[in-house]
Amino acid sequence: MSQSILKLLLKEYEQKRLSAFLDFEKRKENLYHSLPKLEEIDKELNIFALNTAKSILNSNNSTTSIQELKDKIEALKVEKQALLSSLHFDYSSFKPHFDCEKCEDTGYILIQQHYELCSCIKQKLFDIAYNQSNITDLKNHNFEHFNLALYSDKICEELYRSNLSPRDNIKNIKEISHSFIKNFDVPEQKNLLFTGNTGLGKSFLSDCIACELLKNGKTVLYQTAPVMLDTIIDYRFNKNASQLTYDNILNVDLLIIDDLGTENLNSMKFTELFNVINTRLLNQNHHITKTIISTNLNLQDLRTKYDERIFSRFVGAYNICRFFGEDIRFKKNNV
Ligand SMILES: [Zn+2]
Repeated sequence: MSQSILKLLLKEYEQKRLSAFLDFEKRKENLYHSLPKLEEIDKELNIFALNTAKSILNSNNSTTSIQELKDKIEALKVEKQALLSSLHFDYSSFKPHFDCEKCEDTGYILIQQHYELCSCIKQKLFDIAYNQSNITDLKNHNFEHFNLALYSDKICEELYRSNLSPRDNIKNIKEISHSFIKNFDVPEQKNLLFTGNTGLGKSFLSDCIACELLKNGKTVLYQTAPVMLDTIIDYRFNKNASQLTYDNILNVDLLIIDDLGTENLNSMKFTELFNVINTRLLNQNHHITKTIISTNLNLQDLRTKYDERIFSRFVGAYNICRFFGEDIRFKKNNV
């Protein structure tokens, strides 16, 4: 299935690239129209470049004539630069506008003499195949929309078992999230475990982090724990799910596992969950993979439900962020 989607995407990329070039040609035409001298220089440059190439191919030509051509090209370039500088025109930014500067909308990048799919197209494959609607509302789920005022600034030790107010607590979690983004490629940077009741902004914050990392060219895969574990079990029994899906769960840069604790756990799923969490901690082949887990369970419940093997991974390799306060979803609608 993903092969045919990839074909469609590449076709879409071809179109995008073509229209970027067409748009560039149009802008160039307009520029030449207002600067005929520039067109003249460019035309001459093209002719000289072609002649230089011909002369190099034709070994009968003396090196002096090739040097002469190169000198002429240099002189023309200087003249062109002087012309553009006199008009304060930034020619370096005068090029086709691609959606992805990294692959220039080809969908591929060259890594150690091998062509690999660019992260932009990988992310599109993830979005289409697995994320469905979950990660599409990222436009509004970013740090600019993160409203700390929704959290109370009153300390309520008895209720929340903390000497911090919900607002100071969320400020700390926000800081931790920023440093998670900043140090994403540092192997020692811990993963994130968000624990707390629903309606306290866990999913919103995961989305904010996903949004920032997508901007940084990382791939992000969102899964709820029940769906992820069912997918893996299906793959084990060769039902529907493909090897690619399974590989992506293990290898995507950032995996967000939402709603941990809502799955119907059995020994097989337990083993698979351990495998996902553990494999992603190994950063195999020097590829950094990080995970954000979100759960309504508290630490005590997590320990009881998942036993020492998984729990020790949480404690050792995850920054545990406890969300507390009043349900902000209600407040949002009333602010
Ligand atoms: Zn790209």
